[in-house]
Amino acid sequence: MSDSPNANSKWSKYKVEDDKLVRGEFCPDPRCGPGIFLAVHKDRKSCGKCGYTLLNDGKEAHKNF
Ligand SMILES: [Zn+2]
Repeated sequence: MSDSPNANSKWSKYKVEDDKLVRGEFCPDPRCGPGIFLAVHKDRKSCGKCGYTLLNDGKEAHKNF
């Protein structure tokens, strides 16, 4: 058990970035659909096109621009 903590954090960082790419979500709004990705924020995901927002607690919010 002599694994370096630095090596571990490096791997977990890669894993997070890779995970983010793999599970990039499309906007469910019919105006956008597949092709428009949701921008990932710390506490929410949002669509820059229609304003659709999905909070991390599962609530959805729509902003009208
Ligand atoms: Zn959208």
